[in-house]
Amino acid sequence: MNFNPKEIKLKVGLEIHQQLATKGKLFCDCHKIEEPFKVEFMRRLRPTQSEMGEVDPAAMFEFKKGTYIVYKAGKKSSCLVEMDEEPPHDLNPEAIEHAIIIALALQSDIVDEIQVMRKIVIDGSNTTGFQRTAIVALGGKLRTKIGEVKVQTVTLEEDAARILGQGEGYREYALDRLGIPLIEVALEPLTATPQEIQDVALSLGRLMRSTGKVARGLGTIRQDLNISVMNGKPVEVKGVQKLDLLQKVIEYEAIRQLGLIKIKEELEKRGIKKEDFNYEIKEITEVFKDTKSKILKRAIEKGWKVFGIKISKFKGIFGFEPFKGIRLGREIAEMVSFYGIRGIFHCDELPAYEITEDEVKKVRDVLNVNDEDGFVIIAGSEFGLNEALNAIVERCLQAFDGVPAETRAPTHDGKTRYSRPRPGAARMYPETDIPTIPISREYVESLRSKIGPSWEEQISSLIKKYKLSEVLAVKLYDSPYLEVFEKIVKDTNVSPTFVAATLTETIVSLLREGFDESVLNDKILFELFSVVDSGKVSKEAIPNILEVLMKKEAKNVEEAIKRLGIKGLSREELVSIIEDIVNKNVNIIRERGLGSFGPLMGKVMQKVRGRSDGKLVAEILKEKIKKVSKG
Ligand SMILES: [Zn+2]
Repeated sequence: MNFNPKEIKLKVGLEIHQQLATKGKLFCDCHKIEEPFKVEFMRRLRPTQSEMGEVDPAAMFEFKKGTYIVYKAGKKSSCLVEMDEEPPHDLNPEAIEHAIIIALALQSDIVDEIQVMRKIVIDGSNTTGFQRTAIVALGGKLRTKIGEVKVQTVTLEEDAARILGQGEGYREYALDRLGIPLIEVALEPLTATPQEIQDVALSLGRLMRSTGKVARGLGTIRQDLNISVMNGKPVEVKGVQKLDLLQKVIEYEAIRQLGLIKIKEELEKRGIKKEDFNYEIKEITEVFKDTKSKILKRAIEKGWKVFGIKISKFKGIFGFEPFKGIRLGREIAEMVSFYGIRGIFHCDELPAYEITEDEVKKVRDVLNVNDEDGFVIIAGSEFGLNEALNAIVERCLQAFDGVPAETRAPTHDGKTRYSRPRPGAARMYPETDIPTIPISREYVESLRSKIGPSWEEQISSLIKKYKLSEVLAVKLYDSPYLEVFEKIVKDTNVSPTFVAATLTETIVSLLREGFDESVLNDKILFELFSVVDSGKVSKEAIPNILEVLMKKEAKNVEEAIKRLGIKGLSREELVSIIEDIVNKNVNIIRERGLGSFGPLMGKVMQKVRGRSDGKLVAEILKEKIKKVSKG
């Protein structure tokens, strides 16, 4: 669907979080490295109270559920600070310096004093129950394709622990990422097309990278969005890791919100008023005692209960679909999964899912549902069921206001999904363990010279130094692989253009096929080009090796080579294959001389493709042809 951002009053606030390229973490000397986890400990999730005494309802629910958190730690990437067994050390001066340099590049005003605050986090991603954060600069501006965009704040923060997995009642985190300094740049809300907003994010990312003070590579950057339409409540979409997903996420969210407004209008059209909202909750397990519905049957066998909620006059509202895939029924299903509920059905989709006409009729009787009323059926264990029932009623009430304020997560295909209710305000309070740090004007001025050349200038020098095309240089600059590119080109003889094209175009085309690039660390990529450099495999084999790695069918390049059955040919083996073909074609060679090169090259390559480098084959073949035609 196309929309005009001005007409729908689209407002998008963009926050970019990127790790800083510092030696140590924000409050200790540890740093992120890959290492085995030697320490493991467990904590119960506790709802932390702010000084205002507010407790987040989502945190309260997880506490009641008894969610426990397992933390895993290595010995070099974490210490007692990350485990919350020791108070934080002083704020890392290198991180402050990096943050100020980036803020200066954004023409932002540096604060006189850095005051660390605590921001409550409730999902266990921080061992302390809060994240430390400090404003470094205010205001500023960014040059973009759509003109100057204003900066609101530049903040220094600690990164959260890295989630490893989760299951029923537990969550598992690695501490290696916890405490890594992050810079957060928040822009003023924009009204522009989703594509333009994505371009703004790209400009901001390039400016940050141009300072040389941010970490590069996968997982070092993520974007948060605050999106609203028609002056409605803003929805927070947290943790978009890929820049080229921003446009899709904004489009989807704008349409979803417009859809929710249409649902609200539909309620008005039908003359249903918020003041008359009426509901009734009843247990209906009995109705389904002999059900064929697998979901409900399994639930009842586990001793769970089935409940029905009648919502007066809501018949047709749950299934009403103003835009494809946007329905109140779906919103509710996503929301209750937060409370561990998977079995949920509403009146507008039944009978279906092996729930029979007869069962529907019984439900209607028990709930006393008339032709205008709607109902929802859910099944769940004691934990979560009450919360889910309340949340459903609450969500139906919110339908009268259009878009509820909530926190959502991006999906891999650029949609968004409910993740939790939006936490209330007043979640910040001062960190008393760390003294405030005065920032002198002389110090700030002394850092100005460290801003470095603009990204445009840096791309020009890439083109010059490595003889890359402009397109390839820009792609490389925007990719997570610039650093490893420079190392590969320095330490091997593989052509820079080939390395750059592989790290950008080849990987991107494999990503489009749905493969995972997170396995491609610097070590693996370096190995990949080393085996080409040493002649072990040919360049032509690289895309296949990458595919096997990204499909996780092999852990390293060597395994991938084995799996593909690529056996690199020694020079002697290659020479003997070529000689064999030359001997069989002596007549053609005598007749056509070097003109026979093309067809013979094809014949040789058929035998050695993937096992020898084409350039080497051509060299040897030409030499042999010359010998034969002379003799
Ligand atoms: Zn540490």
